[in-house]
Amino acid sequence: MAAEKITKIRMEKEKMSWENNIRRVVPYVAGEQPQKQNVIKLNTNECPYPPAPEVEGVLRGFDCDTLRKYPDPDVQELREALAKRHGLDCGQVFVGVGSDDVLAMSFLTFFNSEKPVLFPDITYSFYDVWADLYKISYECPPLDENFQIRKEDYMKENGGIVLANPNAPTGVCEAPSFFEEILRKNPDSVVIVDEAYIDFGGESCVPLIERYENLLVVQTFSKSRSMAGMRIGYAMGSKKLIRFLNDVKFSFNSYTMNAVTIKAGVASVENEEYFKRITAKITATREYTKKRLAALDFVFPDSKTNFIFAAHQRVPAQELFDALRANEIYVRHWNKPRIADYLRISIGTDEEMETVLKFLENYLKGKQSANKKSSRNL
Ligand code: PMP
Repeated sequence: MAAEKITKIRMEKEKMSWENNIRRVVPYVAGEQPQKQNVIKLNTNECPYPPAPEVEGVLRGFDCDTLRKYPDPDVQELREALAKRHGLDCGQVFVGVGSDDVLAMSFLTFFNSEKPVLFPDITYSFYDVWADLYKISYECPPLDENFQIRKEDYMKENGGIVLANPNAPTGVCEAPSFFEEILRKNPDSVVIVDEAYIDFGGESCVPLIERYENLLVVQTFSKSRSMAGMRIGYAMGSKKLIRFLNDVKFSFNSYTMNAVTIKAGVASVENEEYFKRITAKITATREYTKKRLAALDFVFPDSKTNFIFAAHQRVPAQELFDALRANEIYVRHWNKPRIADYLRISIGTDEEMETVLKFLENYLKGKQSANKKSSRNL
């Protein structure tokens, strides 16, 4: 057969292939979840302390007979508990399977313009994955040299805005007045503020909800409520925004929240004293860790989260990452432009942080004496 004919047949075949109809995506890469015991895991910003004791009570006492029935699709009980906690009406709260689920649903619901959605070049690396998944165009204005958001970049035409506050992985936090300026300039876009880490010393934008119908604030139980494994996230906004979000959810899956999770979530929200104690404890450990890291010649933007984004002034982050990992200490490192020099270190217990700091101290000392020796030999 002539080569030309073979090529034509091949092209026809390729055109017909089922593979041409695939939605091709590059998935988000979550932090490693080592299955080994006895590791120090500071790579996914989990809380090192258990959830409120009442959560365990719910799990132990759960009446399995109730599992015969579907859970409440409106998740009324948990939404009411959250509404009370934040001084809102139940109709202003939406819940989902972790804030990833809530954010994914929000991208699908609110970002349907031809104009690009805006989020910073350095931020939660799931935002561009959802945008690509839903074929939403986007632009990523760069953070300034101190990893701060330049608010002027969010005052041009856009199809929506999503900003993490505090930002991840930098830990940098802005005041609500900063977002209010952005909101004032953007009455025609939905502005999402992702407050996954707000409970560790930041000030929430929730009070702005009353004044800005287009503001959606997203929070999670995964960090400050020690319940990453339970998967609960929620959004707060005007009743109108929440209704649109519910319309999409109910067009997708009515029962995203299971019966056990709903009860456990309520138990957590009802123990405010425990929540305050745990977040204060992590905040204190973070402040202490900052001092020790600075003494070891690390530099970092001031963090208001349960992690520190730190770069050593002389030793490359990849080298430190490998050395820590070889000693069963897991932190996060991205080999990406602008942030390749940094390690994101989640805040663990005091004991865990002491082990990490001692390890870094010894490692850096070892390097210093090796350098001295080799310069003497020159
Ligand atoms: N937003 C930010 C900024 C995060 O870092 C995370 C955690 N990876 C999430 C949202 C999602 O958290 P979850 O789905 O566990 O609620």
